[in-house]
Amino acid sequence: MGKRAYNFNAGPAALPLAVLERAQAQFVDFEGTGMSIMEMSHRGAVYEAVHNEAKQLLLELLGAPEGYEVLFLQGGATTQFSMIPLNLLKEGTVGAYVNTGSWAEKALQEAQKVGETAVIASSEAEKFAFIPSFDGVAIPDNAAYVHITTNNTIEGSQFHFTPETGNIPLIADMSSDILCRPVDVSKYGMIYAGAQKNLGPSGVTVVIAKSTLLKESPKSLPTMLRYDIHNKNNSLYNTPPTFSIYMVKLVLEWLKEQGGLTAVEKVNEAKAKVIYDAIDDSNGFYTGTVDTGSRSLMNITFRLPSEELEKSFAKASEAEGFVGLKGHRSVGGMRASTYNAVPMEACEALARFMKEFQAKHA
Ligand SMILES: *Cc1c(COP(=O)(O)O)cnc(C)c1O
Repeated sequence: MGKRAYNFNAGPAALPLAVLERAQAQFVDFEGTGMSIMEMSHRGAVYEAVHNEAKQLLLELLGAPEGYEVLFLQGGATTQFSMIPLNLLKEGTVGAYVNTGSWAEKALQEAQKVGETAVIASSEAEKFAFIPSFDGVAIPDNAAYVHITTNNTIEGSQFHFTPETGNIPLIADMSSDILCRPVDVSKYGMIYAGAQKNLGPSGVTVVIAKSTLLKESPKSLPTMLRYDIHNKNNSLYNTPPTFSIYMVKLVLEWLKEQGGLTAVEKVNEAKAKVIYDAIDDSNGFYTGTVDTGSRSLMNITFRLPSEELEKSFAKASEAEGFVGLKGHRSVGGMRASTYNAVPMEACEALARFMKEFQAKHA
């Protein structure tokens, strides 16, 4: 096998090598069935065992208390931007949003099409350079939910606290940081994530929610947009993305083998530190774009002294086997996505490369 790339893609992103190899070994003949998992019925016992194990493993790794359900849906996290208000934003209630970046804003915009919304905290005026504090934030009494984006994939910021919302369900888009650290699930009404950053390949979106939020969707909604229908049918109302769910199961097993989320968080902190140190020890050659207290463990964003130098950094890094270091086109700069599957070795190699590049160009 050729050398694996230093993959810092933002999504779809790196998958653990051990997972890819496991999938390869099972690809043609899944557990002696004489066929691939992709080729079998989603109503058969073999696939259903995979499906149910993936659900169980997700709840187990998250340490979710009783009363939470897992859904496997399609349409990406972006479809959840609409499904959340369509299912939960009833007449006379308001969807309360915290605006911390481009994805948070997109979630808000979709809710605005459905009903009443309020922005209860925002860092938009400061170019999303930090996560606003929740001290003194007023949540409307008639809020149906509070929506946050725990990790801002494009801007490189991350919540390092869980907002207290009392009886009002807290809903979190965790697309780019789910399972990167332990989380107190009991504080959330709903957590959702597109799989292609930290969970598996694209094609499946996971929703972990209190069953009370999945009980009764408006009957007027298209069937495929109703949480209650998916929940009652164990996410098998129609054909689910079976191969993606199988891959998620392998990733969850791998995470468990790593020692679970406490162990994974330690590794993620060490990985991020290597790169943030390269930024902070550069005498201003590299500058982080996010306030230190809000820096993300998963998407490390930084700039160089000029766009010219950023272009040559991107080019030179590609020549050295690094992939995906260009920032999102909407913000420019550089971004290293250090999801769970990105090994420490890749982060150390990047830090070395950053120092060498600086020595040549400073
Ligand atoms: C990538 C991303 C999305 C969009 O996910 P899709 O699965 O492509 O719809 C939404 N929110 C966040 C935080 C993301 O990182």
